Amino acid sequence: MSRYIIGLTGGIGSGKTTVSDMFAELSIDIIDADIASRIVVEPGSKALTAIKTYFGADFIESNGQLNRAKLRSRIFSEADDKAWLNSLLHPLIRQEILAQIAQATSSYCILVAPLLLENNLQKLVNRVLVINVDEASQVARTVARDPSSAAEIKRIIASQMSSEQRLSFADDIIHNQDASLDNIRQQVISLDQKYHSLALSFDK
Ligand code: ADP
Repeated sequence: MSRYIIGLTGGIGSGKTTVSDMFAELSIDIIDADIASRIVVEPGSKALTAIKTYFGADFIESNGQLNRAKLRSRIFSEADDKAWLNSLLHPLIRQEILAQIAQATSSYCILVAPLLLENNLQKLVNRVLVINVDEASQVARTVARDPSSAAEIKRIIASQMSSEQRLSFADDIIHNQDASLDNIRQQVISLDQKYHSLALSFDK
Protein backbone atom coordinates (compact mmCIF):
# COMPACT_ATOMS: atom_id res chain seq x y z
CA MET A 1 0.00 0.00 0.00
CA SER A 2 1.21 3.53 -0.81
CA ARG A 3 1.26 5.59 2.34
CA TYR A 4 2.61 8.66 0.62
CA ILE A 5 -0.05 10.58 -1.29
CA ILE A 6 0.29 13.53 -3.64
CA GLY A 7 -2.79 15.66 -4.34
CA LEU A 8 -2.79 16.93 -7.93
CA THR A 9 -5.03 19.86 -8.77
CA GLY A 10 -5.50 22.78 -11.15
CA GLY A 11 -8.35 24.58 -12.88
CA ILE A 12 -10.32 23.29 -15.85
CA GLY A 13 -8.05 22.66 -18.84
CA SER A 14 -4.89 23.21 -16.80
CA GLY A 15 -3.47 19.80 -17.76
CA LYS A 16 -4.45 17.47 -14.87
CA THR A 17 -5.24 14.55 -17.18
CA THR A 18 -2.15 15.18 -19.31
CA VAL A 19 0.09 15.23 -16.23
CA SER A 20 -1.56 12.30 -14.42
CA ASP A 21 -1.27 10.19 -17.60
CA MET A 22 2.48 10.90 -17.55
CA PHE A 23 2.76 9.78 -13.91
CA ALA A 24 0.73 6.66 -14.81
CA GLU A 25 3.27 5.89 -17.58
CA LEU A 26 5.88 5.87 -14.79
CA SER A 27 3.78 3.15 -13.05
CA ILE A 28 2.37 5.46 -10.40
CA ASP A 29 -1.16 4.59 -9.23
CA ILE A 30 -3.66 7.36 -9.93
CA ILE A 31 -6.84 7.86 -7.94
CA ASP A 32 -9.33 10.14 -9.68
CA ALA A 33 -11.85 12.05 -7.53
CA ASP A 34 -14.15 12.52 -10.55
CA ILE A 35 -14.33 8.75 -11.05
CA ALA A 36 -14.96 8.24 -7.32
CA SER A 37 -17.79 10.78 -7.49
CA ARG A 38 -19.42 8.76 -10.29
CA ILE A 39 -18.98 5.40 -8.54
CA VAL A 40 -20.93 6.52 -5.47
CA VAL A 41 -24.05 7.29 -7.57
CA GLU A 42 -23.99 4.19 -9.77
CA PRO A 43 -27.35 2.51 -10.41
CA GLY A 44 -28.32 0.48 -7.33
CA SER A 45 -26.35 2.71 -4.92
CA LYS A 46 -27.99 4.07 -1.75
CA ALA A 47 -26.96 7.59 -2.79
CA LEU A 48 -28.79 7.34 -6.12
CA THR A 49 -31.94 6.14 -4.35
CA ALA A 50 -31.69 9.10 -1.93
CA ILE A 51 -31.27 11.51 -4.87
CA LYS A 52 -34.31 10.04 -6.61
CA THR A 53 -36.41 10.45 -3.45
CA TYR A 54 -35.26 14.04 -2.89
CA PHE A 55 -35.15 15.45 -6.44
CA GLY A 56 -37.66 13.18 -8.20
CA ALA A 57 -37.61 10.30 -10.68
CA ASP A 58 -37.01 12.66 -13.62
CA PHE A 59 -33.41 13.10 -12.41
CA ILE A 60 -32.77 9.47 -13.35
CA GLU A 61 -32.30 8.52 -17.02
CA SER A 62 -34.22 5.62 -18.55
CA ASN A 63 -31.06 3.46 -18.34
CA GLY A 64 -30.98 3.97 -14.55
CA GLN A 65 -28.04 6.42 -14.58
CA LEU A 66 -28.10 9.75 -12.79
CA ASN A 67 -28.91 12.67 -15.11
CA ARG A 68 -25.82 14.65 -14.13
CA ALA A 69 -26.48 17.62 -16.44
CA LYS A 70 -29.96 18.13 -14.97
CA LEU A 71 -28.64 17.82 -11.43
CA ARG A 72 -25.79 20.22 -12.16
CA SER A 73 -28.15 22.86 -13.50
CA ARG A 74 -30.52 22.44 -10.48
CA ILE A 75 -27.79 22.86 -7.87
CA PHE A 76 -26.28 25.77 -9.77
CA SER A 77 -29.45 27.78 -9.10
CA GLU A 78 -30.55 26.27 -5.75
CA ALA A 79 -28.04 26.70 -2.90
CA ASP A 80 -30.05 24.58 -0.41
CA ASP A 81 -30.23 21.67 -2.84
CA LYS A 82 -26.50 21.96 -3.45
CA ALA A 83 -25.84 21.85 0.31
CA TRP A 84 -28.11 18.79 0.67
CA LEU A 85 -26.35 16.99 -2.20
CA ASN A 86 -22.87 17.82 -0.91
CA SER A 87 -23.68 16.57 2.57
CA LEU A 88 -24.90 13.29 1.06
CA LEU A 89 -22.07 12.77 -1.43
CA HIS A 90 -18.92 14.24 0.09
CA PRO A 91 -18.51 11.67 2.88
CA LEU A 92 -19.20 8.85 0.39
CA ILE A 93 -16.69 10.22 -2.14
CA ARG A 94 -14.08 10.58 0.60
CA GLN A 95 -14.68 6.92 1.67
CA GLU A 96 -14.37 5.74 -1.95
CA ILE A 97 -11.12 7.70 -2.40
CA LEU A 98 -9.68 6.23 0.83
CA ALA A 99 -10.66 2.71 -0.31
CA GLN A 100 -8.87 3.25 -3.63
CA ILE A 101 -5.79 4.70 -1.89
CA ALA A 102 -5.71 1.57 0.28
CA GLN A 103 -5.52 -0.53 -2.93
CA ALA A 104 -2.62 1.46 -4.42
CA THR A 105 0.69 -0.39 -4.56
CA SER A 106 3.17 2.09 -6.12
CA SER A 107 5.68 3.71 -3.72
CA TYR A 108 3.56 6.85 -3.70
CA CYS A 109 0.20 7.51 -5.35
CA ILE A 110 -1.56 10.53 -6.79
CA LEU A 111 -5.05 11.77 -6.01
CA VAL A 112 -6.26 13.88 -8.94
CA ALA A 113 -9.04 16.25 -7.90
CA PRO A 114 -10.19 19.39 -9.71
CA LEU A 115 -11.67 20.64 -6.40
CA LEU A 116 -8.99 19.24 -4.07
CA LEU A 117 -8.70 22.53 -2.18
CA GLU A 118 -12.31 23.75 -2.53
CA ASN A 119 -13.51 20.45 -0.97
CA ASN A 120 -10.78 20.20 1.65
CA LEU A 121 -9.43 16.95 0.22
CA GLN A 122 -5.91 18.24 0.80
CA LYS A 123 -6.35 16.85 4.33
CA LEU A 124 -6.06 13.37 2.80
CA VAL A 125 -2.70 14.02 1.12
CA ASN A 126 0.90 14.58 2.16
CA ARG A 127 1.77 17.10 -0.53
CA VAL A 128 -0.10 19.35 -2.96
CA LEU A 129 0.99 19.60 -6.61
CA VAL A 130 -0.64 22.48 -8.50
CA ILE A 131 -0.64 22.86 -12.26
CA ASN A 132 -0.29 26.50 -13.11
CA VAL A 133 -1.46 27.93 -16.40
CA ASP A 134 -2.75 31.30 -17.59
CA GLU A 135 -6.48 31.74 -18.23
CA ALA A 136 -6.08 32.28 -21.98
CA SER A 137 -4.40 28.85 -22.39
CA GLN A 138 -7.03 27.24 -20.15
CA VAL A 139 -9.85 28.61 -22.31
CA ALA A 140 -8.15 27.88 -25.66
CA ARG A 141 -7.26 24.28 -24.70
CA THR A 142 -10.66 23.48 -23.19
CA VAL A 143 -12.57 24.92 -26.17
CA ALA A 144 -10.43 22.74 -28.45
CA ARG A 145 -11.16 19.66 -26.27
CA ASP A 146 -14.85 20.07 -25.28
CA PRO A 147 -18.01 21.19 -27.08
CA SER A 148 -18.37 24.07 -24.54
CA SER A 149 -18.11 27.76 -25.53
CA ALA A 150 -15.40 30.14 -24.32
CA ALA A 151 -18.05 31.96 -22.22
CA GLU A 152 -19.03 28.73 -20.44
CA ILE A 153 -15.39 27.87 -19.72
CA LYS A 154 -14.83 31.36 -18.31
CA ARG A 155 -17.88 30.94 -16.06
CA ILE A 156 -16.45 27.65 -14.73
CA ILE A 157 -13.03 29.27 -14.18
CA ALA A 158 -14.73 32.12 -12.26
CA SER A 159 -16.53 29.57 -10.04
CA GLN A 160 -13.25 27.81 -9.19
CA MET A 161 -10.56 28.99 -6.79
CA SER A 162 -8.33 31.73 -8.20
CA SER A 163 -4.84 30.77 -9.40
CA GLU A 164 -3.24 32.90 -6.69
CA GLN A 165 -5.22 31.19 -3.94
CA ARG A 166 -4.56 27.72 -5.37
CA LEU A 167 -0.83 28.42 -5.63
CA SER A 168 -0.75 29.47 -1.98
CA PHE A 169 -1.46 25.78 -1.10
CA ALA A 170 1.16 24.38 -3.49
CA ASP A 171 4.16 22.38 -2.27
CA ASP A 172 5.14 21.81 -5.90
CA ILE A 173 4.11 23.50 -9.15
CA ILE A 174 4.04 22.28 -12.74
CA HIS A 175 4.21 25.20 -15.16
CA ASN A 176 2.04 24.42 -18.15
CA GLN A 177 1.88 27.62 -20.14
CA ASP A 178 3.97 28.03 -23.24
CA ALA A 179 5.28 24.55 -22.37
CA SER A 180 5.71 21.71 -24.83
CA LEU A 181 4.57 18.24 -23.80
CA ASP A 182 8.27 17.25 -23.67
CA ASN A 183 8.89 20.05 -21.22
CA ILE A 184 5.94 18.87 -19.06
CA ARG A 185 7.32 15.32 -19.16
CA GLN A 186 10.70 16.57 -17.87
CA GLN A 187 8.94 18.34 -14.98
CA VAL A 188 7.00 15.12 -14.23
CA ILE A 189 10.16 12.98 -14.30
CA SER A 190 12.00 15.21 -11.86
CA LEU A 191 8.97 15.35 -9.50
CA ASP A 192 8.68 11.55 -9.72
CA GLN A 193 12.29 11.21 -8.52
CA LYS A 194 11.63 13.64 -5.69
CA TYR A 195 8.40 11.84 -4.66
CA HIS A 196 10.08 8.40 -4.66
CA SER A 197 12.72 9.64 -2.24
CA LEU A 198 10.16 11.47 -0.07
CA ALA A 199 8.04 8.29 0.03
CA LEU A 200 11.08 6.23 1.05
CA SER A 201 11.95 8.49 3.97
CA PHE A 202 8.25 8.73 4.93
CA ASP A 203 8.00 4.91 5.22
CA LYS A 204 11.05 4.65 7.49
P1 ADP B 1 -7.61 19.03 -17.32
O1 ADP B 1 -7.60 17.53 -17.09
O2 ADP B 1 -6.93 19.80 -16.23
O3 ADP B 1 -8.97 19.60 -17.61
P2 ADP B 1 -6.23 18.33 -19.80
O4 ADP B 1 -5.04 17.52 -19.36
O5 ADP B 1 -7.39 17.58 -20.38
O6 ADP B 1 -6.70 19.31 -18.62
O7 ADP B 1 -5.70 19.42 -20.81
C1 ADP B 1 -6.62 20.24 -21.54
C2 ADP B 1 -6.34 20.12 -23.04
O8 ADP B 1 -5.12 20.80 -23.31
C3 ADP B 1 -6.17 18.69 -23.52
O9 ADP B 1 -6.73 18.56 -24.80
C4 ADP B 1 -4.64 18.51 -23.55
O10 ADP B 1 -4.26 17.57 -24.52
C5 ADP B 1 -4.17 19.92 -23.90
N1 ADP B 1 -2.86 20.27 -23.30
C6 ADP B 1 -2.49 20.15 -22.01
N2 ADP B 1 -1.23 20.60 -21.82
C7 ADP B 1 -0.79 21.02 -23.03
C8 ADP B 1 0.45 21.60 -23.51
N3 ADP B 1 1.46 21.84 -22.69
N4 ADP B 1 0.54 21.89 -24.82
C9 ADP B 1 -0.51 21.67 -25.64
N5 ADP B 1 -1.68 21.14 -25.28
C10 ADP B 1 -1.83 20.81 -23.98
